[in-house]
Order: sequence, then structure tokens, then C-alpha cells
Amino acid sequence: MTSIRKPVIFCDFDGTITITDNIVAIMKHFKPQGYEEIMEDTIKQRISLREGVGAMFALIPSSQREEIISFVLDYAGIRAGFQQFLHYLNKEDIEFYVTSGGMDFFINPLLQPFEIPQDHIYCNGADFSGEYIKITWPNPCLPPCENGCGMCKTTVIRNFPEDTYLRILIGDSLTDFEGAKIADLVYSRSWLTTKCEELGVNHVPFETFHDIINDLQQKQEQGVL
Ligand code: MG
Ligand code: ZN
Repeated sequence: MTSIRKPVIFCDFDGTITITDNIVAIMKHFKPQGYEEIMEDTIKQRISLREGVGAMFALIPSSQREEIISFVLDYAGIRAGFQQFLHYLNKEDIEFYVTSGGMDFFINPLLQPFEIPQDHIYCNGADFSGEYIKITWPNPCLPPCENGCGMCKTTVIRNFPEDTYLRILIGDSLTDFEGAKIADLVYSRSWLTTKCEELGVNHVPFETFHDIINDLQQKQEQGVL
């Protein structure tokens, strides 16, 4: 049966578009005093992502802004096939959104070569006007989500009703799992693959964006997309 729903893609940034997680990398590189404990509490889900990420960045002086940006630009690699993937989506007229728990000050410069419209990038902000970095949250959780996501992926996804859209999520970790549960199709790697296996959420593992192009092409040929 041919789907009449319009495919739309929600793609994570850290560890998905980039090869590794930039927030973790920033913390491990700049080592602000006290970050380890907060990171541990965040990973173990003893505090919300929003609390954890906000508290870790609040340990870093705003004066380090340029240093952090140049560190991330040097450090972060883009996953193979991303440019080709965007071309493919463009050709097939498939809508694409970046949904990231990261911050605009490193996401925007890293995505700049790919010319993704700004209103297709959902992420957090950062305010460098005070002594320490203050993370801002322009896309908070709306009911029914009460996870304290920071940038709430399920809230973004819910803006695209499931009777109109075939909702495709691409991701790798903790922040993607709630979205994965409500998406129609999930491309997963790393932790998200393990978690989907454990809890029986339907998923397609991937390593590069070429894998995703191939799978989407197959689904188009089979008429399921
Ligand atoms: Mg990620
Ligand atoms: Zn949320």
C-alpha cells in the first residue's frame, strides 16, 4: 500500500550529524571545576537534561566563548554522506529538520556549509552576556512531555500530526528515545540502537548517511514511502 503521508525527517546533531558528542567533548576539554558529578547525574537521569546541561555550562566563564567555538570547529567531524543525504532529500522533496539538544553557537557554524534554513534547526541557545554561560531554552517541553528535555524533540515532532506526516527520526542517544517511541520510522546508532532493541521499538541501525539513503530508496521502491 502506498503511503499518502508526507515524510518528514527529524535529525539529531551531536553524535548523529557529527561523529561524536560536542557537549561531552567541550566539558572534557575545558574541564570546568565540578562538571564530572553533574554529567554523571545527567547520564544516570538523576537530574533532567535541561538541569544538567544548564548547570555544566554555568561553570564556564563567558569569556571562553571564542575558544570553545574554535575548539568545536576543529574537533567535530561531520558523518560520512551527510551532504549527499541532503541532496537526496532535496531531490525527493522530503522535509528535513535538525532537532538538537546542543547549542546554536556551535551548531550554526558547523552546519553553515550545508545551507539548512535557520527555521529548520531546533536547538538551544546560549547567553554570553553574564560572567558565566547561561543556556537558553527556546523549545521547551509542552504537555504531555514532562521530561525537562531542554530542547524537546517530542514537542517538535508533535507539531507534525501523524495523520498527515510519516515521521522519521534519526538519532544516537538518550535525547532521542522519547521521539523514537512516537516516530513511524527510526534510524538509530549506538545507545539508541541498544535501547530500541531492549524495549522492542522498531528501528533501522545505520553508521553513515549513505546507509540511510539506501534504506529510504529501498522503501520508496517498495512503495512504503
Ligand atoms: Mg546525539
Ligand atoms: Zn520534553
